[in-house]
Amino acid sequence: MNKFQYSSPKNTPKSSEELIEDLQLVAKNLNTEKLSQKLYTEHGKYDCSTFIRHFGTWNKALLKAGLKLSNIINYSDEELFENILNIWQKKGAQPTRRDLNTVDSEISSGSYRRRFISWTNAIKEFIEYTNSKEISPIKNRITQISVNNNRDPSLRLRFQVLKRDNFSCVKCGASPAKDQYIVLNIDHIKPWSKGGLTEISNLQTLCQDCNLGKSNIE
Ligand SMILES: [Zn+2]
Repeated sequence: MNKFQYSSPKNTPKSSEELIEDLQLVAKNLNTEKLSQKLYTEHGKYDCSTFIRHFGTWNKALLKAGLKLSNIINYSDEELFENILNIWQKKGAQPTRRDLNTVDSEISSGSYRRRFISWTNAIKEFIEYTNSKEISPIKNRITQISVNNNRDPSLRLRFQVLKRDNFSCVKCGASPAKDQYIVLNIDHIKPWSKGGLTEISNLQTLCQDCNLGKSNIE
C-alpha cells in the first residue's frame, strides 16, 4: 500500500546566491555549460519559475551563473530591430547597450554582438534600415494588390511615426518613458476601413486610452 505523503512544493531558496549555486552545481554534475529549463527541472533543486522571479528571465540567471545561454536562436534582422524599437519606445530615447539589461528586452546583448559585432553598429544599422525607402511589396505580388492595402504599418513606418511624435501620445502627451504602464498605438487618422492609407501623413501615435476614446466616438 502506498503511504499517504505530504508532497511539498519544490524547495524555496533563501537567497539568489543559493539559486545560482544550484545552477552551477547541476551544470557541473551534468558536465554541460548549456542548461535548458527542461534539464534543470529534471536535476535541479528549485522551480524554474523561481529563477525567473529572481532574475527576470532564465537566460539572465544563466548569465549570472557564468553559463552559456541554453537556447541560442539566430534572430532575423527584423526581430532584432523590432526589439530595438520596443526598447526605444519604452525609454523614449535611443537605447544604450545597458538598456538591454535594465529595460525589459526580449533579446540578450549577445545576439546583437553575434550579428552586428557591437551595439553601436546595431543601432547604426537600425537607423539606416528605418531611414531607407519602403520596399514596395508590389514587386513580389500580383499587380492588382495595391501597396497601401496593408493595414499594419511596417516596423520602418512605425518607427518613423513614433520618432516624429516623440514617442508620446499626440492627444494627451503620455509616454512609456514617463509611465511604464502606457502602451502606444499607431493610429490611422482617417480610418483604414474608410479608405485611409497606411502612410506617414495618415498615421499618428496614440496611447491606448486615447485610441479607445477615438474608436468609441466613431
Ligand atoms: Zn493619450
